[in-house]
Amino acid sequence: MNMQACSPDSWRRGKKEKRFQLVNLSPLKRTGGIKVKKEDCIFCKIAAGEVPSKTLYEDEQFRVILDLAPATKGHALIIPKEHYANLYEIPHETAAGVMKLAKTMAATMTERLGAEGFNLLQNNGETAGQTVMHFHMHLIPRYKGDGQQLFHEQPTASQEELEEIKRKITE
Ligand code: AMP
Ligand code: ZN
Repeated sequence: MNMQACSPDSWRRGKKEKRFQLVNLSPLKRTGGIKVKKEDCIFCKIAAGEVPSKTLYEDEQFRVILDLAPATKGHALIIPKEHYANLYEIPHETAAGVMKLAKTMAATMTERLGAEGFNLLQNNGETAGQTVMHFHMHLIPRYKGDGQQLFHEQPTASQEELEEIKRKITE
């Protein structure tokens, strides 16, 4: 992927300079119809240190805390200190910062906890399983036999189905 492909305003493909417009959804649609005021947001309070948490890391932009209902040992959350409901709302720069921090945390946590793998998970909207409407990235260390499985091991979609979806996104 070249730098242009990472442009915040558009994706470009190959030499044809084909442009993929980012779709502009209304804020209500983007948040799945749920409006959450900052004042009512538990993660705003945790990020600000107003509600106690098991903090693994903190800087000006982010706090990383242990999840109260861990999927595996060490399951943690990266929480930006500024309130953004989800991935649709978050600025590209913050999103990039989240991924950089995820990489660093994954390395440290894997080593310190003796994990054998790692999942990053990030839910957006109720339908996708988001329960706290303040953007966060799940950091999930994985261990042999931990019993977690998110994806099918065998292909479940036909080539035609995949082609149709590809067309919808790219044309
Ligand atoms: P999601 O379903 O992606 O919105 O994830 C929300 C996560 O936040 C869940 O895994 C919860 O267990 C976790 N959670 C909710 N409240 C707290 C809290 N006060 N401290 C730590 N984790 C929390
Ligand atoms: Zn918030």
